[in-house]
Amino acid sequence: MDKKIFDVAIVGGGASGLCAAAYISKYGKGVSFVVIEKENRVGKRILSTGNGRCNMTNEHLSADNYRTDDCLLINKLLERYGTKKLEDEFYSFGLLTKADSAGRVYPYSEQASAVLDVLRKYSSGNELVEKKAMSVKKNGSAFAVECSDGSVINAKRIILACGGCVSTKLGADGSGYKIVSKLGHTVTKCLPSLAPVFVNSPYLTSLKGIRAHCRVSLYKGNKLIKSEDGELQFADNALSGICVFQLSPYVNEMLSKGDKDITISVDLMPEYTKEQIKNILKSKISLCENSTLDELFTGVLNKRIGQALLKSSNTLPFSREIGTLSESEISKIAKTVKSFCFIPSKISDKEKAQVTHGGVTCGEIDPNTMESRLQKGVYIVGELLNTDGDCGGYNLHFAFSSGFLAAKSCLISLK
Ligand SMILES: Cc1cc2nc3c(=O)[nH]c(=O)nc-3n(C[C@H](O)[C@H](O)[C@H](O)COP(=O)(O)OP(=O)(O)OC[C@H]3O[C@@H](n4cnc5c(N)ncnc54)[C@H](O)[C@@H]3O)c2cc1C
Repeated sequence: MDKKIFDVAIVGGGASGLCAAAYISKYGKGVSFVVIEKENRVGKRILSTGNGRCNMTNEHLSADNYRTDDCLLINKLLERYGTKKLEDEFYSFGLLTKADSAGRVYPYSEQASAVLDVLRKYSSGNELVEKKAMSVKKNGSAFAVECSDGSVINAKRIILACGGCVSTKLGADGSGYKIVSKLGHTVTKCLPSLAPVFVNSPYLTSLKGIRAHCRVSLYKGNKLIKSEDGELQFADNALSGICVFQLSPYVNEMLSKGDKDITISVDLMPEYTKEQIKNILKSKISLCENSTLDELFTGVLNKRIGQALLKSSNTLPFSREIGTLSESEISKIAKTVKSFCFIPSKISDKEKAQVTHGGVTCGEIDPNTMESRLQKGVYIVGELLNTDGDCGGYNLHFAFSSGFLAAKSCLISLK
């Protein structure tokens, strides 16, 4: 293998790398390429996406759904690869897609394995080597990829598609950052994103396992940073659910800077104002003044949530008759329903995160081609870059479309 020079070497057989491979295989007649993948199977992570259904992209796609150091790259990429273009590209590989009512796009079969199957089918027939790449060095007019077993793979063009540094069990282990750093690229601090948020709260033990529709709002001091509606899941020492995932990159970033005054406020009845909740509570009281306090939320909220709210508003004991609640106590309870507060305690577990926040500075990449501005002939794609998206298909959209664009650019440059 040492002597052969491939036209293209793709480092990483994940979402972005396999799209690049499938594209070259389909459109690059006579172009030789190799996929270098350190795991014993390609695309392991694709199979875990969207709870096994693979939320591939989203019909409501905008640069606002991404966090990055350079909006130009994401804007240009979305201009080239909108939702329809990406779906068309996959259709040309034989994959039919469909969207749900929220615009989230899935394979029609609702099987993540279908996405992997079509990508694998197109990239098969070319070389796939199970090796861990350690570095990429310029070697005359080509590049030498040095692998952990001491072997070297030579290629005229390199596509680096190694992913980030979260969910390491599915492949990406941060080794891509070492490769790009040796090439002179800047890698920003990497943090877990789209993950449960650890919180300090005396109420979590009793709430563990409960799910509730609510609005979660992240505050720094009194300043609202971000608000999301959705299903909250109370977990072990953590808040979880997609609405919390969407807040997690901001929480983790603030925690990593040492910010202290961070609060997640949970509104457990977002459809109602505080005044309306007071009226609901008052009508419950007038219905049966002799009921005990622990029955106040019966018929309104989950019993254990109701009890936690009452504890938090200092209105115990539960054996007390609800008719004895004062106006100010009713007001305090209603206020707690609208703003049940949790203090984030530590940065999310990277093994539970879906994506990496941070990576190679996007300003160092040509947004028209995905080629490195520092090392011509090297293309950097997917999660390795400092671009991370919201839940809803935005991360795979970025990985897939950057992989396609890099492959297309490689083919043009090889002509
Ligand atoms: C549980 C879970 C669910 C998710 N669900 C969704 C979803 O529904 N929708 C969505 O948009 N996003 C989702 N994501 C995020 C999505 O999986 C990633 O955004 C996407 O996989 C990134 O693609 P990538 O090609 O950059 O990296 P990866 O898919 O991680 O691929 C990188 C590949 O490179 C290989 N590799 C790494 N280093 C080396 C090396 N040095 N040498 C050789 N090979 C190497 C790895 O083994 C891996 O196969 C989810 C993530 C997780 C963990």
